[in-house]
Amino acid sequence: MTHIIDKAFEFCYGHRVHTQTLNGEYAADLKCACRHLHGHEGRMTVHLTADQLDATGMITDFRHLEWLKKWINDYIDHQFVLDRNDPLYSQMIGDRKLIPVTIPNTDHVAGWHLDLTDLDPNTPEYEYYEGFMIVDFVPTSENLSSWMAGLVEKKMAKLGVTVQRVEWYETPKSRSVFYND
Ligand code: ZN
Repeated sequence: MTHIIDKAFEFCYGHRVHTQTLNGEYAADLKCACRHLHGHEGRMTVHLTADQLDATGMITDFRHLEWLKKWINDYIDHQFVLDRNDPLYSQMIGDRKLIPVTIPNTDHVAGWHLDLTDLDPNTPEYEYYEGFMIVDFVPTSENLSSWMAGLVEKKMAKLGVTVQRVEWYETPKSRSVFYND
C-alpha cells in the first residue's frame, strides 16, 4: 500500500531548446521553432511519498512545500531558463559572473543567477540580466522535470519524504513525467 500526495505549481518561464532537430517523416514541417526564444505558461505537479505516515497521519503537511512555491517564484517564474552550454550563451550573457542558486538550508546548487553588483538596479541592463536562470542542461520539459525532482528530493529528505514523480506541463496538452525510480 502506498500513499502519495501531490501539489501543483503554476508559473511562467522562457527558454529555448538549442538542440532541437525534427524528422520530416513525423513532423508536419522542419521548422525548429523551439530554438527560438519563447515562453510558456508552465505547470508542475510534484508527487511525494514516504515509507510510513508520520505521527500526524500525513506523508508531510502540504504546507511543507511552501519553500518550493517561494523558490519557484524567485528563480523560475518570469525567468528565462538558459543552458550555460547554449551556443548563444556568450552573446546573451557575455562574461558576467555567476552566483550559485542553492536550495534553502542545503548545499545543493540548482543553477546560477548573474552577479549584478556592478549595475544600477534602475537600468535596462539590470532588468535584462536579472531575468535569467542559468542551468547546465538543455531546458527541455524532460530535463526540467528531472531537475525539479532532484532538488525537491534533496530538500525533503530530512523529513523522510521522497519524490515519486514530477509532471512538467509545457502546455496544457504537452507534458513530461519523470519517475524517480
Ligand atoms: Zn518551449
